Amino acid sequence: MTHTALYEQEIRAAAASVGRRRFLTATGAAAALAFTANLPAAGAAHAAEADARKITENPFTLGVASGDPQPGSVVLWTRLAPRPYEPGWGSSRSNEGESGGGMPNARVPVRWEVAYDEKFTRLAGRGRADAHPEFNHSVHIEPTGLAPDRVYYYRFRAGSWISPVGRTRTAPARGARLSRLKLAAVSCQAYHDGYFTAYRHLAEEDLDIVFHLGDYLYEYPVDAAGGARKYTGRTLPAHFNRETVTLEDYRLRYALYKSDPDLQAAHAAHPFIVTWDDHEVENNYASDISEDDLPPAEFLVRRAAAYRAYWENQPLRRPQRPHGPDARLYRRLHYGQLAQFDILDTRQYRSDQAYGDGWHAPGPESTDPKRTLTGATQERWLIDGWRQSTARWNVLPQQVAFSERRNATGPGYQVSMDAWDGYPASRARVLAGAESAGVDNLVVLTGDVHVHYAFDIKKDFADPRSRTAGVEFVTTSIASGKDGADKPANWGTYMAANPHLKFYNGRRGYVTVTLDRDTARGDYRTVSAVTTPGAPVRTAASFVTEAGNPGLKPA
Ligand code: FE
Ligand code: CA
Repeated sequence: MTHTALYEQEIRAAAASVGRRRFLTATGAAAALAFTANLPAAGAAHAAEADARKITENPFTLGVASGDPQPGSVVLWTRLAPRPYEPGWGSSRSNEGESGGGMPNARVPVRWEVAYDEKFTRLAGRGRADAHPEFNHSVHIEPTGLAPDRVYYYRFRAGSWISPVGRTRTAPARGARLSRLKLAAVSCQAYHDGYFTAYRHLAEEDLDIVFHLGDYLYEYPVDAAGGARKYTGRTLPAHFNRETVTLEDYRLRYALYKSDPDLQAAHAAHPFIVTWDDHEVENNYASDISEDDLPPAEFLVRRAAAYRAYWENQPLRRPQRPHGPDARLYRRLHYGQLAQFDILDTRQYRSDQAYGDGWHAPGPESTDPKRTLTGATQERWLIDGWRQSTARWNVLPQQVAFSERRNATGPGYQVSMDAWDGYPASRARVLAGAESAGVDNLVVLTGDVHVHYAFDIKKDFADPRSRTAGVEFVTTSIASGKDGADKPANWGTYMAANPHLKFYNGRRGYVTVTLDRDTARGDYRTVSAVTTPGAPVRTAASFVTEAGNPGLKPA
């Protein structure tokens, strides 16, 4: 083993203890020893069990969620937090003996139920789980034995408190000849930039699944007024008004976001399949390299805290649970014979941004063939998965813009060093892999850029006559960027500089994609404002592409 690899191991071991750190600093040495001695290898400690009947305030303030549907199973999530904005025991701001969110520093039994009907008259499953202080009193239930392609309702109980009811849906059987599937793609929900009005409308849509493509939260300070949410008329605690760095910071920030009623409505209405981008940790980080080039050891401790809080607050399965600063978030889901979803993680394994990040003309630094956005292992996994795919549609939910985006016509243009444009060799390998695997129905779903785009993916973006290899639906933000405009200032330049760009809109909203045997249809939904509550939703544009004959046409 090289010296560097040993050093790396030590960093990861140090970062792995991040979840226990506050216990070690908060308690006496003897108590800390007793606590860690009880830690099983998996990292779930055996804290004392609290009597759930002693929870005297509603602990279900953060709603419920479901996710990652499989044919006979779907993850059910909630987190207990009677006073969600309250910091944990061990931080100087908390009440003695409490572990954050107003919960005792003890595990609390939670009962769960899955039913065929909203009134829970016919149960399909039930059980008991512990909400553990080590995981901030979150629960992740993975019920098995449910029927494929079926709607279910679920709820939780702690003591005498019953959670809101969530609606979810399992995936169809692997061989099922599914005729139709409707999904939505969302991203970028800066709480301080506005209300989650788009989520209120999304909750009303008839959808099978929702893909969250990253920036579920932002690390930036949120002031006492909640930024643009001044109409809410609340005063937020001062601890939100600083950048998230520690596990406590990230946990509290999730509490702020998860307390939003529109976000809760969307989660309660549909199963989510989530992946992260940068802001769940820090703006534009790359692997173990932070925005401000902190020592990697220091940054990995922060990444471990952020990844852990992410897992605690999302309806994810056990294999996605982080180990210190590492988490296997890329994964594959199948919807019968109709769709295969390869959900990517383009942050954790990427080469550092070329030319110091930002916008830059392509050059030897960005076009270096050694550079990667996915890492070699994920790239191989993706292309192998395509080779084995029998699905009608191969869908790639991921983070950053895949298609080329020039910011000027003619020579002298620049492209984004943070997107696939900054990693053109990586993009070429993925496109060559799709072609060699016979994928002629590629649909890329993208977030990050806070605008709607519709792209034809070209084999050679410099040549408009080259083969169209697939299509890309880029969803705008839920809130990031505040109200926006239908035609941003650079609209004309972008449309002229990028002939494969078919649509560009700068409002907030989301995209729905309807897949059937013959076509994929994207509907670009927009809301007129997010800095005032209650704006209506409209469809700004719709496009279709034919199975086996990629290329977007107005619908
Ligand atoms: Fe964003
Ligand atoms: Ca981003």
